[in-house]
Amino acid sequence: MKLSEAYTVLNLSPKATPEEAKKQYKKLAREFHPDVNKDAGAEAKFKKINEAYQVIESGEEDIVPPTNAWRGSNIWSSFVRDPFSGGRRQYYGGNIDVNITLSFKESAQGAKKELKYSRQVKCPHCHGSGDNPINNGCKTCKGLGQVASHRQNSILMSTCPDCRGRSKTQPCDDCGQNGVLDSEASVTVSIPSAVTNNSVLRLGGMGNFNGSLMGLQDTYTDVYVHINVDADPDMRLEGTDVVSDVRVSLLDALQGCDRKVKTIDGVKKISIVPGAKNKDEVVLSVGDHSNVKHRVVVNVEYPEDIVKLIDVLKEGK
Ligand SMILES: [Zn+2]
Ligand SMILES: [Zn+2]
Repeated sequence: MKLSEAYTVLNLSPKATPEEAKKQYKKLAREFHPDVNKDAGAEAKFKKINEAYQVIESGEEDIVPPTNAWRGSNIWSSFVRDPFSGGRRQYYGGNIDVNITLSFKESAQGAKKELKYSRQVKCPHCHGSGDNPINNGCKTCKGLGQVASHRQNSILMSTCPDCRGRSKTQPCDDCGQNGVLDSEASVTVSIPSAVTNNSVLRLGGMGNFNGSLMGLQDTYTDVYVHINVDADPDMRLEGTDVVSDVRVSLLDALQGCDRKVKTIDGVKKISIVPGAKNKDEVVLSVGDHSNVKHRVVVNVEYPEDIVKLIDVLKEGK
């Protein structure tokens, strides 16, 4: 969302002060809160208002909330600034991009790679909320916000009638009220065989902490592994096969011959059978688990001097 659009959404003049923006945001957020406003379109408007305020407050345009944030009807509160909890800053960790480089052999046969990257995890102290509850000073509930009443054999917890459960919090020192802590992740990923350059592997839910669904289930963003393959001048991948070329003279092709060819396991000797035709293939099993098919394509070279060729053939009679 552009800054100008954000001001329009909140019915604000672009010259509005941060205080005016906050006040207007709170007013509109209350008006369109899905718990309060059951009109069709209210929830969409509420999201828009949140997004707009986020843009104005941060000064960063085009903040896109994670798409999964809006699945379901009650999830909004886990992801957006909740106007009733004091407008605390929420986090949009976003997906993480990681680059890795594979050798040609690894791209052909697959590989296990250790990835290291930085990510944000939920602050264990405040459980991602950014604030820690403290005693609210109410004597009735001893500051807990809830009172217990005994009914028959069970204890029923209910909201304190005096303080109405109003909780008092203080900013979490551990995470500086961000709700998240920076951490280093180390993950071993299995790269499948026959991976081409510029492939992208998605590691679902291995990214940044992205809030809790209704405060119950933690969600994490994704990691996108961008794969770069070191090309080999002598070999290429065609589908799942490694393919290379070998050139032999017509005479060698007719008589049969041995040749040394480069494979992902190093140089190997192949035998070309007598009478081999142009584009015949010699197939090898290669790779650490012999799981890759290497096709060596025989390219028969005809002599440039056609008269010589005819002589050769005549001599052979
Ligand atoms: Zn914390
Ligand atoms: Zn109380």
